[in-house]
Amino acid sequence: MGRGRGIAVTDEQRVFRFGSDEHGNDVTEGDASMKYRLGGKGANLAEMARIGLPVPPGFTITCQTCTAYANAGNVWPEGALSEIDEAVEDLESRLGKRLGDSHDPLLVSVRSGAPFSMPGMMDTVLNLGLNDESVQGLIAQTENPRFAWDSYRRFIQMFSNVVMGVDADLFENALTQRRLVAGVRADSDLSADDLQELVIEFKEIFSENVSQTAYPELDLSNGRVQFPRDPRLQLRLAIQAVFGSWMNERACLYRKHNSISDDLGTAVNVQVMVFGNKGNTSATGVAFTRNPADGTHEFYGDFLVNAQGEDVVAGIRNTEPISDLVGIPELAAAGRQLEETFVILENHYRDMCDIEFTIEQGRLWMLQTRVGKRTAQAALKIAVDMVEEGLISREEAVSRIDPAQLDQLLHPQFDMTAKLDILARGLNASPGAAVGEIVFSSDDAVAAAEEGRSVVLVRWETNPDDLKGMTVAEGILTSHGGKTSHAAVIARGMGTPCVCGVEAFHIDAVKKEVRIEGSDHILHEGDVISIDGAQGIVVAGAVPLVSAEMTGDLDTVLSWADEIRLDTTSGRAHHVRVNADNPSDAQLALSFGAEAIGLCRTEHMFLGERKDIIQSFILSDTDTVRIHALDELLRVQTEDFLEIFRTMNGRSVVVRLIDPPLHEFLDDPRELAIEIARLEALGATEDELAEKRALLRRIDGMAESNPMLGLRGVRLSIVYPDLPLMQVRAIATAAARLIRDEGLDPKPEIMIPLVSITEEHVQTRAIAEQVLKEVEREYGVSLEIPIGTMVELPRACFVAGEIAKTSEFFCFGTNDLTQTTFGFSRDDAESKFIPIYLHKKVLDDNPFETIDETVVDLVAMAVERGRAVRPDMHFGVCGEHGGDPRSILVFFNRAGVDYVSCSPYRVPIARLCAAQAKLEAQSERDA
Ligand code: PEP
Ligand code: MG
Repeated sequence: MGRGRGIAVTDEQRVFRFGSDEHGNDVTEGDASMKYRLGGKGANLAEMARIGLPVPPGFTITCQTCTAYANAGNVWPEGALSEIDEAVEDLESRLGKRLGDSHDPLLVSVRSGAPFSMPGMMDTVLNLGLNDESVQGLIAQTENPRFAWDSYRRFIQMFSNVVMGVDADLFENALTQRRLVAGVRADSDLSADDLQELVIEFKEIFSENVSQTAYPELDLSNGRVQFPRDPRLQLRLAIQAVFGSWMNERACLYRKHNSISDDLGTAVNVQVMVFGNKGNTSATGVAFTRNPADGTHEFYGDFLVNAQGEDVVAGIRNTEPISDLVGIPELAAAGRQLEETFVILENHYRDMCDIEFTIEQGRLWMLQTRVGKRTAQAALKIAVDMVEEGLISREEAVSRIDPAQLDQLLHPQFDMTAKLDILARGLNASPGAAVGEIVFSSDDAVAAAEEGRSVVLVRWETNPDDLKGMTVAEGILTSHGGKTSHAAVIARGMGTPCVCGVEAFHIDAVKKEVRIEGSDHILHEGDVISIDGAQGIVVAGAVPLVSAEMTGDLDTVLSWADEIRLDTTSGRAHHVRVNADNPSDAQLALSFGAEAIGLCRTEHMFLGERKDIIQSFILSDTDTVRIHALDELLRVQTEDFLEIFRTMNGRSVVVRLIDPPLHEFLDDPRELAIEIARLEALGATEDELAEKRALLRRIDGMAESNPMLGLRGVRLSIVYPDLPLMQVRAIATAAARLIRDEGLDPKPEIMIPLVSITEEHVQTRAIAEQVLKEVEREYGVSLEIPIGTMVELPRACFVAGEIAKTSEFFCFGTNDLTQTTFGFSRDDAESKFIPIYLHKKVLDDNPFETIDETVVDLVAMAVERGRAVRPDMHFGVCGEHGGDPRSILVFFNRAGVDYVSCSPYRVPIARLCAAQAKLEAQSERDA
């Protein structure tokens, strides 16, 4: 399910004001709770205005207006346009200025703002309201013709590109030409006259590239469309364009990647323009109230003197650190006010905030705030610090950590012992290390990834069109831009390692090579490099990677999570176990905080050199050979269990009896058939071939059309009882020896897989109990080994009450349960049709990744029926879903299980999610 699906807002009001009126009184209508109507930006502008922060006045058109407009085939819903007209008039009277006025014009920005942040994915138009008359008003007001003409040419450029789709390069080329003619290097060196000429040229470009058929509302002159002069028309077209940008390709891709529902729509914020480019008393910047990369409690961000907002994020000019702002005399007062605002915002939102601001002629204006995105490392540090500062509780700290983000922390790092041939240094924009071949474009990254090659995307700077390549790249490197540049923000959000601002890299994307300043080394496409986004370094060749250790803040937060999830005064404890079938995985999982082994798959113990033994058991006709093979298996399995139970001393180890179809242990019959054919061709005699032919017949005889629905799981125990007998004996013997000889406390549990019929469980249990008694007698110890059922077929869920009469626990194998509930083969569905189902929205999620509600229904039913028969029974989940954050929440809260069990690396995530499930249930109870 995507974020935000199913939000129903029925109120009809489509436009909400924010900011103050002409008397300085706040007239804001919305607040921070309204993000599904006003979008994140609109809701937070309203909130900032409400708490008295300086917000340029404006109004927000709701997300629902966007969806209504789009659903009606780009037709405005009734009444919306007149509500917007009223809001414009209201804004004009609040400001005492009029759009298009030739003396003192009102200029506005038109910005998108969806309920969830989608940085740079949708459109923005600045300086709207300029035309040939109002530019004169701007000149009169600012007494700065250069500024006015520059604003006007920027507006035409942005409007033409964003609203009308005219190629941005046409304007850039004209700008470059103009610089050449004027003999200057930078845009900022162009004179007012140059810029006025450019305005004429830009309008020409517009007329040449926009057709009246597409925009009948535009005026014609000499048969050519004219750039719209009427500010109201400019505004309507700009709003429509922002609505349209909700469905542009990059926005759709971003939503897909971030599980944001397409149904939400974007709000549009129309806001009075303030200018950061009115000389040296003006500036603009983006900042965070704490360091979003590592969480340090410091003001963090960049600003540019005499610039407009887009200049900062575009990485075109090199920015200055926010801490320098108070040191600039003309900006010091506003800088101090900004620092006070950081504190006000943090205390108000009780979280780290991300802000955009502009200083216009010494006066600070807040253009945006939101709870800031951060790396996993920063999220943990900020949560721990804020608890220590008394700003938030431990519960809040735990509920704030995004489980998916924890993966970032468990990301590989450079092996400390590796020798590093450092090529260059840049900014440590997003943590984690990556190794890959250099590619210079998003398309090349995608093509390489499709061939299964790992790549590092190397760009001068990224832009939203690079998203596809950024999504598939192992790492991202840019030679320009700061830590708030597009590349840095997106990479942090995706958890992809990123080093930006590697200025020594002179990238030639056409020749596909990089010259490195101060070195003869030239890198070419396909060369392998390694980057470390935590240290900001670029290294030649492939550096070995290692996984991070769990220490410090992560340990602290997880220890709080453990307190919450294991607290029985607030409901059933939520336990976390691990799926492990060897001592080293068990050891690793213990270090990650696993409490027990929830699934030990014994078939993995038959692989490698032991394959011969199981093969001789399966294929032999003679009892002596079979008995010998069983004895050998008993010996090696007992050794395995000894080691695992020793490692897990005092902790449960759920051992599953053999599960897969036996032919999985045999050689490939096709290879054997080829071998026979080869020997035949070489003239081998019938006698020589007889043995191989007999083997082939036996292997062929074991083949099944649907092995996953065939002779596997408990069915093997019924058909070949020798195998489970041997396994139970190995488990019991290992436990008995550890108790008797080493004084340890082994806690094995025996699990019977793929049960569907109660009698399957009853009969297998009976033979297991028999063996347990024999071993007890043999070793003179008492063994308390619970025998339970692996519930992974829908029928077992229905007869759960019956099975529970002879079963001490249920553990749900949700991989098979999903397979059999959907009738989807778990071996094929994910490669054959699930991606298409997701693309065509037949499914919202891959059911093998995130548990489906119907499967949860089955689990919940089985838990209820089991518990009704045996109140002290234990219930767990050990399918892949046991490590999936969304599934973990429903397993605990809807199905009522006692534990989830997952692979070792997902244990920390499961601990966090188990606590979050508990907190969520508590807050639902309290509500
Ligand atoms: C399951 O089916 O969910 C399970 C854990 O067992 P396996 O994946 O080994 O079939
Ligand atoms: Mg299974």
